[in-house]
Amino acid sequence: MEFEKHITIANSLTGDAHHSQNPIEQDADTRLRHAEAALQDATEWAQATLNSIGDAVITTDLACRVTYLNRVAEKLTGWVSLDAIGKPLPQVLTLVDGHTFLTATNPAQRAMEENRTVGLAMDCVLIRKDGSQLKVEDSAAPICNAEGCIKGAVIVFHDACHSPTQSSKLAYQAQHDALTGLPNRVLLAERLSRAIGLAKRHQHKVALIYLDLDAFKPINDSLGHAIGDALLKLVSDRLSDCVRDTDTICRHGGDEFVVLLSEIEQPQDAARIAQKIFSALAAPYRIDKHELSITTSIGISLYPDHGSDARSLLDNADMAMYHAKESGSNHFQLFRADMNALREQRGQIEFQLHRALKENALFLDFQPRVDIATGYLCSAEALVRWRNPALGLMQPSVFLPVAEARGLIGPIGHWVLHEACRQLQKWREQGAEIVPIAVNMSAMELRDKSLPARIAGILSETGLAAQFLELEVNELSLMYHPNDASIATLIELKQLGIRIAIDDFGAGSDSLKRLKCIPNDTLIIAPCFIHDMLENLENASFTKALINFGQNLTMRVIAKGVETQAQLDHLKLQGCDGAQGFLFGKPLSATDFRALLGPERPQWPLNNQGLQSEPPNKYQRIRPDS
Ligand code: C2E
Ligand code: MG
Repeated sequence: MEFEKHITIANSLTGDAHHSQNPIEQDADTRLRHAEAALQDATEWAQATLNSIGDAVITTDLACRVTYLNRVAEKLTGWVSLDAIGKPLPQVLTLVDGHTFLTATNPAQRAMEENRTVGLAMDCVLIRKDGSQLKVEDSAAPICNAEGCIKGAVIVFHDACHSPTQSSKLAYQAQHDALTGLPNRVLLAERLSRAIGLAKRHQHKVALIYLDLDAFKPINDSLGHAIGDALLKLVSDRLSDCVRDTDTICRHGGDEFVVLLSEIEQPQDAARIAQKIFSALAAPYRIDKHELSITTSIGISLYPDHGSDARSLLDNADMAMYHAKESGSNHFQLFRADMNALREQRGQIEFQLHRALKENALFLDFQPRVDIATGYLCSAEALVRWRNPALGLMQPSVFLPVAEARGLIGPIGHWVLHEACRQLQKWREQGAEIVPIAVNMSAMELRDKSLPARIAGILSETGLAAQFLELEVNELSLMYHPNDASIATLIELKQLGIRIAIDDFGAGSDSLKRLKCIPNDTLIIAPCFIHDMLENLENASFTKALINFGQNLTMRVIAKGVETQAQLDHLKLQGCDGAQGFLFGKPLSATDFRALLGPERPQWPLNNQGLQSEPPNKYQRIRPDS
C-alpha cells in the first residue's frame, strides 16, 4: 500500500499528474490557472510527504536519468538533488554485489523492462558519493501515466546495516558455506523471511527450489572427498548461472542446495528454472582425470500457496523433492498437501528399521533371470523387502535411502547376504537344482574392508559354495576410481570364488574405458537403454555395442527391465546372454521361486565364461512365448 502511494506521488513528480476535466463553459484561462495550482499543490504535497518518510526515494525518467531524490536518498547516496538530477541513475545510485563488488543489476531498468515491482539484488551495497559503502535493500517499480504507459521508475530503499557486526567477516562466515561461498541455511532463512515480507506487500509469489544431487554419494564414497568437494563447487557455479542476482542459492548441507526465487508470478516460472537447472547440471564435469555425470531431483514450494512462513516452505519443498526422487532422476515435483503423510512415514521408517532388523521383519523376493538362447532360468536377483507392521509391505526404494542416510545399510546388507546364502543352501539341501543368486551391494558396503572376511564367514557358516553367490555393484559406485579400495575388495571377493556383476551399466559417461580394471563376470545393461531401444536407434546401437563389448571381455551380458516380447526378440538377435524383467515375471516370494527350481534338477554347471545353459530337457522353461 505504502509503495503504491509512493508511485502515485512519484507520478506527479515526473509531470504526469492527471487533472480532471472542468465544465465546458468554464473560461480556458481559469481552467489553466486551476490546473497549475492543483499541480503545484500536488507537487508540494508530494515533496513534503516524500521528505518526511524514512525510506530513500529516487525517481528516474525512461532513460534512467534521475528526476528526483528525497532527503533520505540525498543522505544515503551523498548526492544533493541539484547535482544528481539529470545524471544517469547508476552514477547516483551505484550498487554493487556485497561479496564480489561487481556492478549489480540496475533495478530501475529492470522494473521498466519487466513492467513490475522488482527487488534490489541480494546483498546489495551502495557506493556512496564519497566512496564509503552502505548495505541497502528494498525495491523498484515502474511509473506509469494515466494511459498505463511507462514514464520512468521509482526506487525505494533503506539502510540495511541493522547491526555493526553484520558486515564483519565473522558474520559473513556464520552466514555462508565455507566450501562453495554460497549463503548457508542461516542466511537463507533470513532472506526467505524477507522475500515473504516483500511478496506479501507487492502481491507476488516466492518459490523455493529444493535440489538434491542423485548420484553424489557413490561418487564421494568411491572417488574421495576432494573430488566430491570439487564437484560441489562446480555445481554451485552452474547453479549461479541459472538465476538472477535478486535470487539466492544456498548450500543447504551435503549435496543439497536450495534456490530462492524471490519474485515470481506463477508456478510455471519456477518450473522453467527447474528445467534450466537440469540442463545446466547435466553436462559432464571434468575433475582431474575424471569425467563425471550427475542427475538431480527437485522439489518446489511456493509462497503463499504452500506455506506462509519460511519453515513450512522449506519443509514442503524438501518433501516434494523426495517425491521427485521416487519418479527417477531429473524430475521436479511441485508440493502437494497430501505429501505430508510421507514425511511422517519417513520418520517412522527410520525408527522402525532398527526394530525390523532385530525382529526379522525383512525378507527377500527373487526375480528370475533367463538364458536368452535356451529360455531357461539361469540365475535370480535377491531383492529385499520389509513387512512393516504399521505401513504394510515396503519396497527397497522407500526404505534403503533412509537406511543409507542413517547408517543402517551395513547391518541390512549383512542380513541380506546371510539370508540369501542360507536360503539357497537350504534349498540345495532339500535337493533343489539351485541357480546363482545375485545380491545388491551399496557403495558404502563395498568400502567396508572387512566385507570379504564377513562374506567368507557367511559362506562357511551356511555351507553355500561361493560360485552360487554373485555380488551386484552399481556402476556409478565404482566406475570412477579404478584404484580405489573398493576394487581391491572386489578382487579379494573374486579370489574367494564369488561372481561379480556390474549393475545398471551404461549410465556413467566414461564407464567403458574403466570397465577393464574391475574383476567382473557379468554386465547388466541399465533398463533405461532397454525400455526404448526399439524406438530409439541410438539406444539400440548402444545396447548392441555393450553386448559385443561385454562378451569380448568374456563377460556374460544381461539386459534388465525387459518387458516385451519384441525387446526379447531384439536382444536375442543381438546375441545377448540373459534377460530379467516383468516379461518373465516380477520378483517372486521365496516359496514361488523355489517352485521354479524343481526337485530333481542337477546342479547348474559353471565355467569361466559364465553360466552355461544345460540341454533343454533338464531345465524348466519359463520363456513366456513357449
Ligand atoms: P535393481 O538392482 O535395479 O533391481 C531391479 C529392480 O527393477 C527391482 O525393483 C525390480 O522389481 C525392478 N524390475 C525388474 N524388472 C523390471 C521391469 O521389467 N520393469 C520395471 N519397470 N522394473 C523392473 P526393486 O525390488 O524395487 O528394487 C529396487 C532397487 O533397490 C534395486 O534395483 C536395488 O538397487 C535396490 N535393492 C534391492 N534390494 C537390495 C539389497 O538387498 N541391497 C541393496 N544394497 N540394494 C537393494
Ligand atoms: Mg540389481
